[in-house]
Amino acid sequence: MSWRLTLATTFLCCAVLALSAAAQTDEGAQPQDPVGFSLDELDELDALLEEDSDEAATPLTRDEVVDLAGLSVVLGFAVFSFLTKSKRLRVVALVLSVFYLGFYKANLVSIVNIYSLVTGNLPELRFGMTWYVLAIFTVATTVLWGRIYCGRICAFGALTQLMDAVVPSTLRYELPPSVDKWAAKVKYVILTTVLVYFLASRNVLAYRYVEPFWMFTLNGNAIMWTLLALLLVATVFIRNLYCRYLCSLGAALGVISNLTVFRIKRWQECRSCKICEKACEWGAIQGPKILVSECVRCDDCERIYADENKCVHWILQRKSQAKQSDPVSP
Ligand code: SF4
Ligand code: SF4
Repeated sequence: MSWRLTLATTFLCCAVLALSAAAQTDEGAQPQDPVGFSLDELDELDALLEEDSDEAATPLTRDEVVDLAGLSVVLGFAVFSFLTKSKRLRVVALVLSVFYLGFYKANLVSIVNIYSLVTGNLPELRFGMTWYVLAIFTVATTVLWGRIYCGRICAFGALTQLMDAVVPSTLRYELPPSVDKWAAKVKYVILTTVLVYFLASRNVLAYRYVEPFWMFTLNGNAIMWTLLALLLVATVFIRNLYCRYLCSLGAALGVISNLTVFRIKRWQECRSCKICEKACEWGAIQGPKILVSECVRCDDCERIYADENKCVHWILQRKSQAKQSDPVSP
């Protein structure tokens, strides 16, 4: 089954990319890249810098300082909500991400950032401060704790998580575990395909057909809007559909998260208890194991581990303490 799925997905990706290339040809001149730094923009920046190297030494403008401050507040708040494990603060962090990083700033990490890394075509520090802050924050927090970026900072992921919170659970369809397991690998196939396609064609704009992040700029063509509508409708029925199965950036962060230093604790009792496995909406718990590449550090299981009335570890511990203090009771 796996090779068929892999083949089908690769075929699908190639078809979508080919379609996008055709759409771009129809559109004539390549449109502006709405998210992140496209390679064209970077080339323009290089040219500007060559023309006037003194400009690089100019101090930050007021708008740039405000941008940096806004981004720092949102990122700082996300980390604070993570460290406090507060459900309410996490919802606030998600709302901030959707409206500030998404609709207001369209500031998301994207596969385009990976293209820049792969080709070494990075923005000049002076003109790409927010780019560097977000990119370094994303990689650093992934190495420290895991996919915190996906769990509360990515505006699209935040939007679908908020959608999930309001969609009635009766509408939801859970994929059978065997299908879920293979579907979770599709995003790695997409990541590999888009990287190979980019390296072969240097077509940076095709990413808009595999990433929906452009939606925050409201700048898409008919094909893109149709794909987005289909994706959002499907997300009503299958929670976190894009993040769990299709996101190439999520796949890249999943690979990095294998380096995570501070991982989620597990008790010995987790071997037989299924409470957290059932509670995890990301399919990231399999028996005693946490699949770090799938986990977005949403805190749901950690709240259960810490709950002395829900977690089997604490309940058994209380029982054994009661037995020790009262050895005659049966
Ligand atoms: S998996 Fe992709 S869309 Fe989902 S939160 Fe992560 S980066 Fe965003
Ligand atoms: S429930 Fe636990 S394992 Fe699942 S995504 Fe959330 S933090 Fe990760």
